[in-house]
Amino acid sequence: RKKCIRISTGSKQLDAALNGGFQTMSINEVYGEFRCGKTQLAHTMAVITQLPREMGGAEGKVAYIDTEGTFRPERIMEIAERFGVDPDQACENIAYARAQNTEMQAELLDGLAANFATNEYRLLVIDSVMSLYRTDYSGRGELSERQQVLGQFLRRATQMAEEFNLVVLMTNQVMSDPGASALFAGADGRKPAGGHILAHASTTRLLLRKGRGEERVAKIVDSPDCPEREATYIITTGGITD
Ligand code: ATP
Ligand code: MG
Repeated sequence: RKKCIRISTGSKQLDAALNGGFQTMSINEVYGEFRCGKTQLAHTMAVITQLPREMGGAEGKVAYIDTEGTFRPERIMEIAERFGVDPDQACENIAYARAQNTEMQAELLDGLAANFATNEYRLLVIDSVMSLYRTDYSGRGELSERQQVLGQFLRRATQMAEEFNLVVLMTNQVMSDPGASALFAGADGRKPAGGHILAHASTTRLLLRKGRGEERVAKIVDSPDCPEREATYIITTGGITD
């Protein structure tokens, strides 16, 4: 039986709130308003995953599906320097792909099975999971079709997380919705995109928001083994930290 591993977020506080970081064999969803650090967290974890276990890593490679064109190798190199790893090597250990539409997003995921079969990978980033579904299925009356296709994608991602012992890290946008269901709404009446299908697929959900000054706040919204609690973090040149 495969042993599940926890991978650090870069912030000790946030790791503590998550009982040691994000777990392999599960889907972890990070959502929040723009510039709260979702993409920065994805970059930070893309480096930390490569580190030895005693540094919070998993000695693993990373697959990165980018739907918004916000992946920056220069950021990977800066974060690599923080942890004392070779910047070029850090980039080489990331299998990067840009998805332009939902069909491509699903095809890329399928294609990664060959990479994952090597058992060298421990992190799959999807930044962001919903943006292309929202543009490809934006018409009236397309929501149920969207949710069906999204469900297929999420089932495949869940299956891969379990089969290949991966942390799946999905970022998600918030929709402004004054009438948002109390189940998902943050204090500001925003809720993550994707509806119940995504809510059910995510093992752990983290709501990010801006705090005082440079501070950011992460709230664990939905976790099988952590209480609802908050942690603060900051974004630096070296990525997410305390
Ligand atoms: P969006 O919803 O628009 O995708 P996001 O949650 O992905 O937003 P990020 O791109 O992760 O947001 O975070 C952007 C923030 O990260 C910027 O506001 C900036 O403050 C910070 N940031 C980016 N690069 C650096 C850096 N090199 N040093 C310090 N802070 C940085
Ligand atoms: Mg982003």
